[in-house]
Amino acid sequence: MIAGRMMDRPLLIIDILKHAADAHPTIEIVSRTVEGPIHRYGYADAFKRTAQLAHALKGLGIEEGDRVATIAWNTYRHFELYYGVSGIGAVCHTINPRLFEDQLEYIVNHADDRVIFIDSNLVPLVEKMAGRFPGLTAYIVMAARENMPETSLPNVLCYEELLDGQPETYDWPELDERAASAMCYTSGTTGNPKGSLYSHRSTVLHALGLLAPGVLPYGTGTAVLPVVPMFHVQAWGQPYVAPIAGTKLVMPGPKLDGESIYELIESEGVTLTLGVPTIWMGLLTHLRETGKRFSTLKHLVSGGAAIPLSLIKGYEEEYGINVAQGWGMTETSPVCAAGADGPEMDKLEGDARHELKLRERRFFGVELRLVDEDGNLLPHDGETQGELQCRGPWIVDGYYNDEAATAAAMTDDGWFRTGDVATITDAGLLQITDRTKDLIKSGGEWISSIDLENEAMSHPDVAEAAAIAMPHPRWQERPMLIVVPHEGKNPTTDDIREHLKTRIVSWWMPDDFAFVDELPHTATGKVSKLRLRERFKDHVLPTI
Ligand code: ADP
Repeated sequence: MIAGRMMDRPLLIIDILKHAADAHPTIEIVSRTVEGPIHRYGYADAFKRTAQLAHALKGLGIEEGDRVATIAWNTYRHFELYYGVSGIGAVCHTINPRLFEDQLEYIVNHADDRVIFIDSNLVPLVEKMAGRFPGLTAYIVMAARENMPETSLPNVLCYEELLDGQPETYDWPELDERAASAMCYTSGTTGNPKGSLYSHRSTVLHALGLLAPGVLPYGTGTAVLPVVPMFHVQAWGQPYVAPIAGTKLVMPGPKLDGESIYELIESEGVTLTLGVPTIWMGLLTHLRETGKRFSTLKHLVSGGAAIPLSLIKGYEEEYGINVAQGWGMTETSPVCAAGADGPEMDKLEGDARHELKLRERRFFGVELRLVDEDGNLLPHDGETQGELQCRGPWIVDGYYNDEAATAAAMTDDGWFRTGDVATITDAGLLQITDRTKDLIKSGGEWISSIDLENEAMSHPDVAEAAAIAMPHPRWQERPMLIVVPHEGKNPTTDDIREHLKTRIVSWWMPDDFAFVDELPHTATGKVSKLRLRERFKDHVLPTI
């Protein structure tokens, strides 16, 4: 080999913020605070405060490799923690406040977190569990002194007091780019949660990957609102992408309802926003009820769960918003594929165009393949469903301190088993059709629960729908559809069946239907099929 004559500079997270402070010093980070008022400052100010935080962390005894937990909403303080913690070589462990108590206890102790940073309105949640975290040496409330809540927590510190008077510069260490920078546990719908441990290198490459032109629009004059929480896989990379691109970053704090999101989009001139389908349903309902329109928003990204076609149509046709779907997982940093723009899309109009938006194109840096149950490769023909596996520099190569889970997730040739079922077209467009554990296998053939749900949700009276597998003596499993009608609507089984008849092949028709007021959701806002299956476990199909 002839070695290239280029500098071997490490890819470090703190250099992203340093770049923003130098190149985009006055571009703002705007946050709706937990207390309510809007806070705003530029990337240069954020960099100074991050230096102060780094000094404070050192003062707390945090060393390289230590885990520092956060349980917090999207705000500028959480942004400072992303950079300050990783900047000194420690690991920022973001925790989802909506997890069950047992999961929280497991995660904090398994990660061996040293200290925890908490938003003031989440203090009661942590307070009632304090005795269950023996390893934590301090609880830092992310507030100014005047907003500190009364609390029975031991060793409580105030974030602003810790920063106060600290120097505004820090001698950031030149870390190994492969050093761990952050971690996030999957919500663990089965078994214990599993930890993904990101590195500086994986994080920077993921952010650069997302910036590929033509995928998501960033840059001067744009403003991004990650509604997706910073505890949900690093807000899908937005706190890293925005400072690189010089994009204004708008943080929603704890208020994620349609009205609050709409207000922020309008008042801050947001051009791009990202979140899970449940959030977009809430916002669309708000728009329709109030007759409001967007004045700056152009692009909306939905991910984390399959987006219903009806939602894409609603935003595109009624509001002129370009909707793109993204696919990813906690284990994949998370974004691997997004949007389906390209020559295929350009040829299409109307419904056909919307339908293509159910697919996503993979990013440079991520390889995808489909395999059958025996591990044989399957064709990318847009029809054949198989288990999706992926590989790339921002995909996990195993779980943190969990050999059994690692062995189950990795293939012998080094690919990650996603547990998702998908099709891929010959033009490289991915569509998730199911999760392996949610598959409905009727007479040996797979029925895509996502497709079934999507078609059901295209009925005007249906707000949400979920398909689950029910045991059947002849077919092993048959689908059952659980439907949430729109408020004030009362669709019947016959209505739904009639609607589905022309839209799905006959053997996909659910054997039974149930109507409920709401579906159970997981901590990340997805329908919990596990809880649904539990709820209907004694139900017997009428076709038996
Ligand atoms: P969990 O839902 O287990 O808490 P993640 O947030 O990591 O964990 O979710 C990853 C999963 O979300 C994927 O494996 C996939 O099943 C689902 N998902 C993500 N994006 C999409 C999408 N665009 N379409 C369908 N499913 C998706």
